[in-house]
Amino acid sequence: MLLGAIEAGGTKFVCAIGTEKGEILEKVSFLTKTPDETLKKVVEFFLDKKIEAMGIGCFGPIDLDENSKTYGYITSTPKPDWSNYNILGELKKYFDIPMSFDTDVNGAALGEIKWGSAIGLDSVIYLTVGTGIGGGIYSGGKLVHGMTHPETGHILVKREKNDDYKGTCPYHGDCLEGMASGPAIEQRWGVKAYELEENHKAWNLEAYYLAQGLINYILIMSPRKIILGGGVMKQKQLFPLIRKKVVETLNGYVFHKNILENIDEYIVPPKLGDNAGICGGLALAKLAFDKAGL
Ligand code: ADP
Ligand code: ZN
Repeated sequence: MLLGAIEAGGTKFVCAIGTEKGEILEKVSFLTKTPDETLKKVVEFFLDKKIEAMGIGCFGPIDLDENSKTYGYITSTPKPDWSNYNILGELKKYFDIPMSFDTDVNGAALGEIKWGSAIGLDSVIYLTVGTGIGGGIYSGGKLVHGMTHPETGHILVKREKNDDYKGTCPYHGDCLEGMASGPAIEQRWGVKAYELEENHKAWNLEAYYLAQGLINYILIMSPRKIILGGGVMKQKQLFPLIRKKVVETLNGYVFHKNILENIDEYIVPPKLGDNAGICGGLALAKLAFDKAGL
């Protein structure tokens, strides 16, 4: 079966054709320009490909309420030209096939559950730490949407006592994203994040904030696995620092071997690597196909 996947990002779009086994047969990517220019390229790529369903993991915020008039829209993004844009409606003009529309991070979480580091688990969070911070939540065997969708990057965190950086978030200043996104690291230290030495104190501070986020997710949703992706997590030295802080701060309270003994397998990078998002699109497409009962 041929499936279509779109990873619609604020910086770049990735489109792929693949199978229900998560194999990618063909993939293209291009920079995100205006909606018209970008969707034209998407449509051209898929038009003659004979796909049977399509999955779209999209940057947000997006409207996921199927009963809403603006279902399938990108809603209040600050990205010029893209706010209130009916991306799903535009695709539906060209493709009369089952489609599944979700957040990019929910897609990535589903990809990792089908083919990555969380195979078969019923409760998982996939967090991306990049230009922003966002999380996809799978709980009770379902992707979580709720009223809109979770915004796990904008939770409030306790400031490190010597840190007087104001934070990048235009809404909250020093929320988790404001303190620990890639742009926050770069503004705080005045260099590109990848230029900071592996043992620079920036990474300890980064781990301090990310660990707080993870502790909150553990306490609220009790995930069986936490997957950390995105550009900032290319800094592999962050993993041991974050794991250590999570264990220390929880202080034995969450009494489970995943945390007490197997933390290295509990907080992990995406096994699908940079393909987590696009494989997620394939997983969403399969979901749409199955739901349509064709
Ligand atoms: P996006 O969030 O736009 O989808 P990324 O996940 O690649 O894209 O995130 C980009 C951010 O990640 C940039 O702000 C950059 O600071 C940071 N970043 C990218 N690569 C690295 C790296 N190797 N080390 C540290 N930070 C990185
Ligand atoms: Zn915020």
